[in-house]
Amino acid sequence: MTELKNKLYINGKWRPASDGGTFDVLNPATEEVITKVANGTVEDAKLCLDAAEAAFPLWASRSPRERGEILRKAFELFSNRIDDIADLITLENGKGRTDSIGEARYAAEFFRWYAEEAVRSEGHLGVAPATGARILVHQKPAGISVLVTPWNYPAAMGTRKIGPALAAGCPVIVKPASETPLTMLALMPILEEAGVPPGIVNILTSRSSGRVVGEMLSDLRTRVISFTGSTDVGRKLLHAAADNVVKPAMELGGNAPFIVCQDADLNAAADGLMVAKMRNLGEACTAANRIYVHENVATEFVDLFVAKMANLKMGDGRDHSIDVGPLVNLETRDKVDYFVRDAVSKGAVIKLGGQKPIGKGFFYPPTVITNVPDTAECLYDEIFGPVAAIQTFSDEMEVVQRSNATEYGLVAYVYTSDMKRGMRISESLEFGMIGLNRGLVSDPASPFGGVKQSGLGREGGKEGMLEFQETQYISTEW
Ligand code: NAP
Repeated sequence: MTELKNKLYINGKWRPASDGGTFDVLNPATEEVITKVANGTVEDAKLCLDAAEAAFPLWASRSPRERGEILRKAFELFSNRIDDIADLITLENGKGRTDSIGEARYAAEFFRWYAEEAVRSEGHLGVAPATGARILVHQKPAGISVLVTPWNYPAAMGTRKIGPALAAGCPVIVKPASETPLTMLALMPILEEAGVPPGIVNILTSRSSGRVVGEMLSDLRTRVISFTGSTDVGRKLLHAAADNVVKPAMELGGNAPFIVCQDADLNAAADGLMVAKMRNLGEACTAANRIYVHENVATEFVDLFVAKMANLKMGDGRDHSIDVGPLVNLETRDKVDYFVRDAVSKGAVIKLGGQKPIGKGFFYPPTVITNVPDTAECLYDEIFGPVAAIQTFSDEMEVVQRSNATEYGLVAYVYTSDMKRGMRISESLEFGMIGLNRGLVSDPASPFGGVKQSGLGREGGKEGMLEFQETQYISTEW
């Protein structure tokens, strides 16, 4: 296991919080304290801004190739430490080994992808129709970027922002989630060794998130706020960003429908649902939340899916044979349990699981409920746990309407063996991403993001770098 880092990282140095404060980080499998981490203050937030401000001009002036080479080196170093980082993810987040390794690999890929994108920042040259003046358009680094990340992907939600920001030439201040700050801190030595200069990546752990992020958003030096987390907090940050017209990128909550048509390959659909529902124990914004199965194939599909779910082994993720670790904290576990009780009290039927275990650790077993009534609360809120809530449908138009009847619009999944039907349904779904015969859409090369209350902007792909760039246009003639 990698050495635990538990201090703030500001201007290339590890330091305690300015008032010496700390907070505990727990192992959700045992409820034991792993370590105490520096509880950054408003003073520390100002120090981060000072460091980023001083470092910005030199970083922005380095050639795209140089910035790209540093990111490439970070990718290589990260790739050599996948096991260690995965251990740390499991320790503080609880997810099982397969999920931790998957996340660590996915996280490293953002350094590789943006090493490649750093040299592909494009502009264009035009001619003004009336005057013949030249219109020269290019991209500049947007400036100091504040990155606020959630606990469900402690590594990947950070690198998905750090990669493009650094490629674009921006310095960053990362505020990781207080549940899981250790993974982000552990990535810092990798970035240092890769050649990231002091002040370009600063890490501000803090339990006073509202105050430290608020301080940075009220400072005119901050130019970008890139946030991944709940829609409620995203809205607050959008309000705060509005005061100083800070450029926002918001990756917020989801409520993904998973549609299984009558003509779907049911085994493939059940495998796809295992990924869409159980990756990260269901603690994912992309998790299938409302599962709609055509009524003519529902019994067969549920049997197939329950058999796969029943094979999963639950326990402490430090045992590598475990599939399902604990949820991240008590509140998350109790909310998941509440959703099951609520649905059952309204008529849902438990096909598997559904019992909160007794003992230490925030465990909840893989659970399948069917006959879920439209009044069940789990259909309207993110379950964020290993519970599959299944309903049936009879008509294509009807399932599209029900799928779209949510304020969220992050991702939807469709299984059908008729690609014409698949494309028709995909295009009618009001979601930023569609998994068509796939239970996984996340990829560093693709634009990840949602519509409606699921967010603004995109991460990954070519689009991800634009969030950290400003377009400048030069009018000239020659
Ligand atoms: P959260 O409570 O919104 O917290 C996210 C981050 O915001 C944490 O670092 C948190 O710090 C910080 N924060 C909380 N209140 C804040 C405030 N008033 N001002 C500034 N920062 C504040 O979300 P979460 O529970 O960690 O993550 C789960 C949510 O993230 C789900 O809704 C999920 O759908 C969403 N998510 C979305 C995506 C996507 O790409 N669309 C990806 C992953 C997760 P503390 O930890 O210190 O409170």
